[in-house]
Amino acid sequence: RPLIGVLALQGDVREHTAALTEGGARVISVRRQSELAEVDGLVLPGGESTTISRLLETFELLEPLRARIAEGMPTYGSCAGMILLAEKVLDGRPDQHQLGGLDMIVRRNAFGRQVDSFEEDLDVAGVDGGPMHAVFIRAPWVESASPAVEVLATVPDTPAAGAAAGRIVAVRQGDVLATAFHPELGGDHRVHRLFVDIVRKS
Ligand code: GLN
Repeated sequence: RPLIGVLALQGDVREHTAALTEGGARVISVRRQSELAEVDGLVLPGGESTTISRLLETFELLEPLRARIAEGMPTYGSCAGMILLAEKVLDGRPDQHQLGGLDMIVRRNAFGRQVDSFEEDLDVAGVDGGPMHAVFIRAPWVESASPAVEVLATVPDTPAAGAAAGRIVAVRQGDVLATAFHPELGGDHRVHRLFVDIVRKS
């Protein structure tokens, strides 16, 4: 069974740990360089990307994490995690750090500052068994992506989606996976199972 880390500086670490464990992985929390060095793959949970970025510096994880991602460590980012993995962020804080891994531009809090959350059923490529119920919480979307980035899901054109219709909300580039939504909330662990599979095959 692969050993997967969950970055445990901020965010919903417990939910990711449960989903990955159910998906067949051994899971540890990662706060130190020694823990990062041990894992076969890493999950970056949702939370606040500016805060996680700052904590990565404080915990001296920023450069080691960039290095492991550049070396091809499978990584999955949800919401704030997606923001951190993008090459570039719009509406970010000027001092917020990017980890890279996904050759794309994200827009932070893209669904509108007034709209705290939004839910929609989405088809996700690589996830079999019907659409996923996706929960977006002050979520980003992908503003633009290079052809190297595979689009796994876009927001369907429903009345509730409004201006978000057609926006990219799940992507994969090599072994780096990201969703703007939070599949760790609720009982559907198919995205986590997909990630455990990616780690197993890498
Ligand atoms: N708005 C947050 C950010 O900018 C992301 C929200 C989330 O992860 N649920 O990082």
